[in-house]
Amino acid sequence: MSTTMRTTVAVVGGGYGGIALAKELDDVTDVVLIEPRDTFVHNVAALRGLTDPRWTDRMFIPYDRLLSRGRVIRDKAVRVDATSVTLASGTRIEAAYIVLATGSSYPFPAKAGVADSATAKERYHATRKALADADSVLLLGGGPVGLELAGEITSVWPDKAVTIVTRDDDIVPGGYPDEFRAELRRQLDAMGVRVLPGAHLREEPPTGAGEAGTFTATLQTGERLTADVWFRCFGASPVTGYLAEDLAASRRENGRLDVTADLRLTGQQRVFALGDITAVPEAKQAGAATGHAAVIAAGIRTLLDGGDELAAYRPGPPGIVLPLGPGGGATYAPGWEDHVDAETAAHIRRHSADRGDTLLQLDILNAEMTSQLKGADLMVGEYADLLGQG
Ligand SMILES: Cc1cc2nc3c(=O)[nH]c(=O)nc-3n(C[C@H](O)[C@H](O)[C@H](O)COP(=O)(O)OP(=O)(O)OC[C@H]3O[C@@H](n4cnc5c(N)ncnc54)[C@H](O)[C@@H]3O)c2cc1C
Repeated sequence: MSTTMRTTVAVVGGGYGGIALAKELDDVTDVVLIEPRDTFVHNVAALRGLTDPRWTDRMFIPYDRLLSRGRVIRDKAVRVDATSVTLASGTRIEAAYIVLATGSSYPFPAKAGVADSATAKERYHATRKALADADSVLLLGGGPVGLELAGEITSVWPDKAVTIVTRDDDIVPGGYPDEFRAELRRQLDAMGVRVLPGAHLREEPPTGAGEAGTFTATLQTGERLTADVWFRCFGASPVTGYLAEDLAASRRENGRLDVTADLRLTGQQRVFALGDITAVPEAKQAGAATGHAAVIAAGIRTLLDGGDELAAYRPGPPGIVLPLGPGGGATYAPGWEDHVDAETAAHIRRHSADRGDTLLQLDILNAEMTSQLKGADLMVGEYADLLGQG
């Protein structure tokens, strides 16, 4: 097949991976991006979108300038088989290639939970009011979301009493060095955030998550905690329930999809999957989803050109940028020097040596670097540019 002959590629889901892929293929083929939301949601900024009203607007970015040739259809896929996507409206889209990019759900406020941006913004504003009025806040979950939310809350309201309760033995479980966790614990302590590891509530608070209302909850140890509002900071769940029988064989019990090295669903030639829904053994991050999108776009170009040798995806080292508010936090970045130019690397090393900072030797970047990498602007410019709204 000639590359000038255009073919439909249906991309199901317009999150981080879906928009990157749709944009990559817009010039070579007919891209149809299917997405129920009326705007892209920059989830990375969602927690600040709760605490700072300026960010509530910034995290919703229109799709209208993403594609020049392709189309964004506002609808939801309810059934996907090897050659077509059926939408909630009843429309059926036939496609030569299908890329599944439906991501994962997560409790509010980390994810907006509704498809309409005006309704989502109202929810963020209303919950901010409940939070502003609270003297004490309970966060259930000590992973990146719980910690980031604690950092955002204490940056805006330093006097609020924030407590993190986590079942795990320590904060941010996973393959990170203990020194990374220790640095985060040190900063949380300095912010006055209380962390209770290895702990859980005997029963859920009587108020709904994010709702104003003072309550007392009991830990498994018998200790009683009183707070004015609480948030659930755990519970990511991949969205893959729409797969028809011929594709469902790739679906694991936990909802994630088995893919080949070139990110096709196992047993499928023309159906790919990317991002949070895949069972690729790596941290589920926007960076991984866009890395998948680049490999899949190259693969589809190869297939359109008549080739059959597709490039394989190789997961990167386990890294994480974890801000605690705009100016705090820490980053674990093995191999960080490969991602910056020699001058920047020399500057970072010098800066770290001047401060007597030994963390860099363990590939841990300090609060200032974390702020530059993510905390200050939450990478919003990068995604606004990709969506043509820079
Ligand atoms: C608070 C928070 C902060 C984060 N910070 C970072 C960070 O700093 N760096 C980082 O790399 N990662 C971060 N992440 C993780 C990152 O957001 C995810 O890994 C990323 O969103 C995954 O991208 P994706 O393309 O797989 O899915 P998503 O971005 O979740 O997009 C999926 C899209 O599919 C759509 N969809 C769902 N069902 C259907 C359907 N049936 N039909 C059509 N469309 C559908 C959804 O509406 C959504 O738009 C953060 C996550 C959270 C919650």
